[in-house]
Amino acid sequence: MHTKQIINKQKVSDFYTPRGLHIYFKDSIKNNNVDVEEVISKVENFLPHHLTSEVEMIIVGKFDEFEEKGFNAFYDSGTIFVDSDQDDNKDMIDDLIHEFAHSLESPHGMLIYGDSKVQQEFLEKRYILHDILWKSGIKIPKSLFSNVEYNSEFDMLLYKKIGYDKLATLCDGVFLTAYAPTSLREYFAEGFTEFFLQPDSHNYIKKVCPELYKKIFQLYYEENIDNY
Ligand SMILES: [Zn+2]
Repeated sequence: MHTKQIINKQKVSDFYTPRGLHIYFKDSIKNNNVDVEEVISKVENFLPHHLTSEVEMIIVGKFDEFEEKGFNAFYDSGTIFVDSDQDDNKDMIDDLIHEFAHSLESPHGMLIYGDSKVQQEFLEKRYILHDILWKSGIKIPKSLFSNVEYNSEFDMLLYKKIGYDKLATLCDGVFLTAYAPTSLREYFAEGFTEFFLQPDSHNYIKKVCPELYKKIFQLYYEENIDNY
């Protein structure tokens, strides 16, 4: 039996995008289904220029934080760190757009969170989720639902105890994704990702999360940001 020779075509050296984004490989990508150049080019097509300008560098690799906290990307001061272990291009595009959303929270914090409307919407949804879970026998104290900040206990309840597959079904029509109830910041980042990855679902996003939709729409048009 002949073993098909696998030719690793993955680019393992740095590259720069036309927008000036620096892609640095700490570790190489093992999965041949993932083409990082194509991924980055798609991300730059999905996001207007003014929404990628906070990020200077994307570092692809394995990081302890990924193992410890069970996530596969994070943003910190101008840099996106993304897992080199990805299922496919779509998986990586998703992670990156989500982290670009986080890069906008600090510079556009007043626009996104200043009037607390997104927070109110998020909290209403959290309480709806509490009731849905309670009725289906998952009894979590209501007090845990009122903290809008990231809380690892709450995160683990959703991620491990309930599981995202089950949660996605339970929160359908309330939250856009199973990760969105995790915290106010994740609610924003997940909405932002859906907005840019699913342009056909704008009406749905607007219906389910009207306040969040308004904020992302404001960010989308640069002139709205300037006038803010
Ligand atoms: Zn996030």
